[in-house]
Amino acid sequence: MDAQSAETPCPRALQALWDHLRVGQEEALLSPHLPASCAFLAHVFFCAPFLVLDALASVSQRVGSWRIDAKSRRPPSLRRWLDCFWRVLCRYLTAVLPATALLQSLRSPELPAHAPTCWQLFVEVCASFLLFDTLFFAWHFSMHRVPWLYHNVHQLHHQQQIPFALAAQDATSTELLSLLLLALSSAWVVGCHPLSEALFHLLNSWMAVEDHCGYNLPWALHRLLPCLGGAPFHQTHHSLYRGNYAPYFTHWDHLFGTYYA
Ligand SMILES: [Zn+2]
Ligand SMILES: [Zn+2]
Repeated sequence: MDAQSAETPCPRALQALWDHLRVGQEEALLSPHLPASCAFLAHVFFCAPFLVLDALASVSQRVGSWRIDAKSRRPPSLRRWLDCFWRVLCRYLTAVLPATALLQSLRSPELPAHAPTCWQLFVEVCASFLLFDTLFFAWHFSMHRVPWLYHNVHQLHHQQQIPFALAAQDATSTELLSLLLLALSSAWVVGCHPLSEALFHLLNSWMAVEDHCGYNLPWALHRLLPCLGGAPFHQTHHSLYRGNYAPYFTHWDHLFGTYYA
């Protein structure tokens, strides 16, 4: 092994991955339909394990004990999952996909020749999360404070007092679009490499699903990182219809006095 590969194995692995994507999938990577299609598919993919968990919760006491809502441990029915799936699909096809495709074609992204370093990837993903969390907090707080915004944009998302994984995207087309735009603009402001941006969007989808899953899982990320609120934090927001406005981190709610344990 030469000295350079011993020192920087990670960038080389990233470079190989990036070369594979850039050369083989260039057309797909530059497609204006990519952000909305990936957002929807990633959402459904990340929800699948929770559909299994919901099925197990009906028969396993142990899985049932992980549910956050102590009064009603009954998980959502398959019918609720399917209804929610069709609503979200419909809103993506009729509003989110065409609107983001138009925006992406105006943005004309480029594919750089070099992959990011591991450190660059890490910093860009963390910075995008912190910025997205801040923008989401401000937008979510406004939607609860301005009655017109609440009734016309956000109220639909609160129809699930006890949410479940798929309900993370059960919102009006305007809200879905606004959240996707906040995520896209966070990565854009940070100046993310496309690989960092893709990782940020994937992790963002996963964390939104986990926030709504209805379970306080023993291996959940917020147990490892106390700066995150996790599913109990966001479920409190759904139960109280107020407070805990940030999606992931808790610092803004602590700072503005809107934190509920
Ligand atoms: Zn809300
Ligand atoms: Zn929610």
